[in-house]
Amino acid sequence: METHVLGFPRIGAARELKFALERYWRGDLTATALKAIGRELKLRHWAHQRDAGLSLVTVGDFSFYDQVLDMALMLSLVPPRFASWQEDNALDLAFRMARGDAASNTPALDMTKWFDTNYHYIVPELSPGMAAQLREDVVLELLEDADLARAHGLHTKAVLLGPITFMTLCRPIAGLDRWTLLPGVLSAYADLVRRLAVRCKWIQLDEPVLCMDMTPDAQAFFLTSCKELRRAAGDCPVLLTTYFGELGENLTLALGSGCAALHLDGVRARQEIDAVVDRLPQGMRLSLGLVDGRNIWKTDLVQARTLAARAVHKLGQDRVMLGSSCSLLHCPVDVTLETTLPPEITRWMAFAVQKCQELTLLRQAIEGTAGAALAEHSACLAERRASPLVQDPAVRQRVAAVEPAMLQRTSPVQLRKARQREVLGLPLLPTTTIGSFPQTAEIRKARLAHRRGEMSSEAYESFLKETIAQVIAQQEALGLDVLVHGESERNDMVEYFGQMLKGFCFTANGWVQSYGSRCVKPPVIVGDVSRPGPMTVPWIVYAQSLTQKPVKGMLTGPVTILNWSFVRDDVPREDVCRQLALAVRDEVQDLERAGVSIIQIDEAAFREGMPLARAAQEAYLSWAVECFRLASAGVRDETQIHTHMCYSEFDTIIPWIAAMDADVISIESSRSSMTLLDVFTEFEFPYDIGPGVYDIHSPRVPAVEEMAALLRKALAVLPADRVWVNPDCGLKTRAWPETMAALANMVAAAHRLRDEVRAQAS
Ligand code: GLN
Ligand code: ZN
Repeated sequence: METHVLGFPRIGAARELKFALERYWRGDLTATALKAIGRELKLRHWAHQRDAGLSLVTVGDFSFYDQVLDMALMLSLVPPRFASWQEDNALDLAFRMARGDAASNTPALDMTKWFDTNYHYIVPELSPGMAAQLREDVVLELLEDADLARAHGLHTKAVLLGPITFMTLCRPIAGLDRWTLLPGVLSAYADLVRRLAVRCKWIQLDEPVLCMDMTPDAQAFFLTSCKELRRAAGDCPVLLTTYFGELGENLTLALGSGCAALHLDGVRARQEIDAVVDRLPQGMRLSLGLVDGRNIWKTDLVQARTLAARAVHKLGQDRVMLGSSCSLLHCPVDVTLETTLPPEITRWMAFAVQKCQELTLLRQAIEGTAGAALAEHSACLAERRASPLVQDPAVRQRVAAVEPAMLQRTSPVQLRKARQREVLGLPLLPTTTIGSFPQTAEIRKARLAHRRGEMSSEAYESFLKETIAQVIAQQEALGLDVLVHGESERNDMVEYFGQMLKGFCFTANGWVQSYGSRCVKPPVIVGDVSRPGPMTVPWIVYAQSLTQKPVKGMLTGPVTILNWSFVRDDVPREDVCRQLALAVRDEVQDLERAGVSIIQIDEAAFREGMPLARAAQEAYLSWAVECFRLASAGVRDETQIHTHMCYSEFDTIIPWIAAMDADVISIESSRSSMTLLDVFTEFEFPYDIGPGVYDIHSPRVPAVEEMAALLRKALAVLPADRVWVNPDCGLKTRAWPETMAALANMVAAAHRLRDEVRAQAS
């Protein structure tokens, strides 16, 4: 049985690539040195795969920035605004496209989430007049990698992002029909495949788009593309890889592709394995992705063996391949580098290096040659299942005892609104911010000093109190209506809460690439989650004691905490989310008891957990909304619940957003110039909305009239007594001068519009 991974993390166990890139961009490293580091990483990652006993080693999964960007460059699909740098070396051109060019004010290509992961890819632009053509220097890099691996005696499998997925991820400009470029793209791909095929044992064609709803056009083009690329590959077998979900309606398409093998995400599409085994055409092999590429836990190999058993029995060992569910890009590199976690927890974990080893062990388990290693591996899993770090019967009981009434506010929103108006006495078009204020170097320094034990807890606490007092004073001076405490005590909106909750742990080195040189270190939910005590109450109460204006309590919602963490895999995600929701609910009620009258529960990542196929989305949205309600509904009518989401793609999920039943929602809308508000003309949304009036991602200070104009647009769609005035998102990445200037203008814009509304009414 062949064993392989779909891709290996490229950032390096010690984030070597990140640091090298940043030095290169600063001018402290030559291109030759950067490339040498890249080469070293590739060799090391291949060695990991070989040493783990995998039968194939994957090449072509490395990138200095992003694999989608590399493909665009390889095909010479370079937007006209970068044309003057066409002749540059490919590396610098790629960096320019990814990061923009400040000197000439050339904006970067957009970046967006890679399917439902937290990895972000660069979105290539397709404009009329473009023609795909292989760019020789980029092609040579890839071919050299394949040669290099072969020279090291490795059996190589070259991975390419498939043309249909690539084309689907691109953004057509100026009304272009993207598919008009396909013939050129396919002939370039065919050329590339032809040259790779003579150097490799396999070609892996990634087409995760097959796990999404596809248009009939895309489906037809998919078959054409497979036919053409198979022909180009000649005797080299093509492995068609799908991941992140079930094939569903595209299963027939995948089975009809004529490829030598089909890879199925055995974690996300577990229920589909049997159907695929039954329908697999004679000449096709099945690659089962049974080792999860998206988490950090050891695989239940006994269960995986059972899942593979029927395939092996029916197809025979030669027609079954064992793989990771998707690329290991989404998990950290090596768990043996974890030294700060309790040792038993590291024993339950497998990062990329260990996942490679698991694949070999799984093969041996199936072949009956695993010996004691399998028993040892299983013992770790048994230890995990029984551990008191994982099991908390009280939490389980609490979740089981959740009743429908707990998801329900006492009165409907209109009644609540009347009561809240009496208590809060806010003006028309109330002004507020999203929560955080600038995280200055001083704040970060103090936090670090405290963490290192160089600053006492007392000193740190009084430092933070001083910061809060300043933030309150500034907001008073600006004349904002609803104040915040500024979140200076938080490093990160999820990590902060994870650190206060039972059931979480934190790795020292569990970095995962987010985009380019950026990495995140997600918290780990290892066991049943509960809240030992208040997490935010003293800070908010202190802030409130300094002002007559209402101060918003500021919490991160359960769905966002879930979606930005590594979640345990022994309990359904929705149950973990319910546990988180109960913990947040307790905090909400404590805040209310402490006299806090407005509580914001951020759900910045609400949409991120949404499955790819429409059929599965409803189930997700339904439990996600339920969890938000469980967290937020336990308060009196008078207490105003806010939520915040920092993106604008609401059209398809607006009924679900309404079902969250939050009194006020703030959203990103300045960049799209309020166009997202159009959905509110069709859908009756009885809640207050704060459409962000300026983009906090840039230091630019928008003029009063610019924000006033956006507000006028909002007021053309929404009734004035339901509109709030706020920025698009939190201000923590901004500096103070621009923050004060922008907020002063924002308050002035609100005043201007209040006058206009009043004048119209009289
Ligand atoms: N309250 C958080 C802040 O202001 C929200 C951040 C976010 O939406 N990403 O920073
Ligand atoms: Zn936001």
